[in-house]
Amino acid sequence: MQGVDGHERVFDWLDTEAEKRAKAGLTRKLRPRAAASDELDLAGNDYLGLARDKRVAGAAAAAALRWGAGSTGSRLVTGSTELHTELEHELARFCGFQAALVFSSGFTANLGAVTTLSGGESAIVTDKYIHASLIEGCRLARTDVAAVAHADPDAVKHALSTRRKDRALVVTDSVFSVDGDLAPLNQLSQVCREHNAALLVDDAHGLGVLGEGGRGALNAAGLAGEPDIVATVTLSKSLGAQGGAVLGPRRVIKHLVETARSFIFDTGLAPAAAAAALAALGVLKSEPDLPQKVLNNSTRLADHLRGNGFRVSEPQAAVVSVQAPTPEDAVEWAARCAEQGVRVGCFRPPSVPDGISRLRLTARADLTDGDIDTAVKVISECAPPSATS
Ligand code: PMP
Repeated sequence: MQGVDGHERVFDWLDTEAEKRAKAGLTRKLRPRAAASDELDLAGNDYLGLARDKRVAGAAAAAALRWGAGSTGSRLVTGSTELHTELEHELARFCGFQAALVFSSGFTANLGAVTTLSGGESAIVTDKYIHASLIEGCRLARTDVAAVAHADPDAVKHALSTRRKDRALVVTDSVFSVDGDLAPLNQLSQVCREHNAALLVDDAHGLGVLGEGGRGALNAAGLAGEPDIVATVTLSKSLGAQGGAVLGPRRVIKHLVETARSFIFDTGLAPAAAAAALAALGVLKSEPDLPQKVLNNSTRLADHLRGNGFRVSEPQAAVVSVQAPTPEDAVEWAARCAEQGVRVGCFRPPSVPDGISRLRLTARADLTDGDIDTAVKVISECAPPSATS
């Protein structure tokens, strides 16, 4: 190949950036997990323990053999199968919405929902702690975006009343992914109605955990299926599969099919993932007490850690977060836990908007009391000295 002197240096700036991140304790590394291991997992999002459930994984395997490993095309070309249609129908019915549209991930579902329900002369008002995928959606919407105080309906009200707009969209997570706290959905819905705004709720961490039998945070709030509310979900947490979906009024779903770029120009969800999510929904319907087990476990985990002197979030879903003194402490703490056979999540800036680093723990339904006691013991032994001060 013909070279130009110095061309090997075009990416030198990446090393400078990496050094800066290293100095700030923000280096990130991939740690592949083993297929079979004795590690106690408190880092994943498989809240109901369904990712490896034979009914779920078996459905995925059977679908791959029947339909192929991939979906072969975008949903509007060859990427829709009867599994996608059935999943959309079942998700909408289970969560109490008119219709649903399955995307290849929760991330692309959020991009599609935010961009198509805003734009142009609209205003978007968001909680400042919404998930990164919603933030990206707001950026792509190329419209007026106000990110207001966390879980504060008055701040939303103020932002809506001070904006000139033809239409408005309020965007929030139902369960915030870092601390696991809940959005005030009823108050937000009230504010939206007073200002003729639509409400978009990312229920990634609510589906399978909150509401009747795990029907989600909007079911819990009595707001599922309302004509001015749209929900997004991921299939990759409680349902143990992969993919995402938007749920809402039929005309919203039609609008997404025809205009959402992250739907139209993306390869459809793999049939195996659609089949797995369908099977997981079936399990959830037949075992409606699974969600309560998650909540019992997160409460037990948080109580015991707090009893050992840690600063712990008040869990309202599966997520329990434990504050770390510094990002470096958080990384070292998580690494020491891993050495002792307990895998915990480690959240540092920029994943945490408030700059506070944390261990992020998830309390799955299938953890035993003994698992939780072991986790608390290991986390306590591995903690940096000032974590409990
Ligand atoms: N929203 C929230 C609140 C999430 O936590 C996540 C996953 N981390 C997503 C959306 C994205 O979902 P997915 O992983 O299916 O792309």
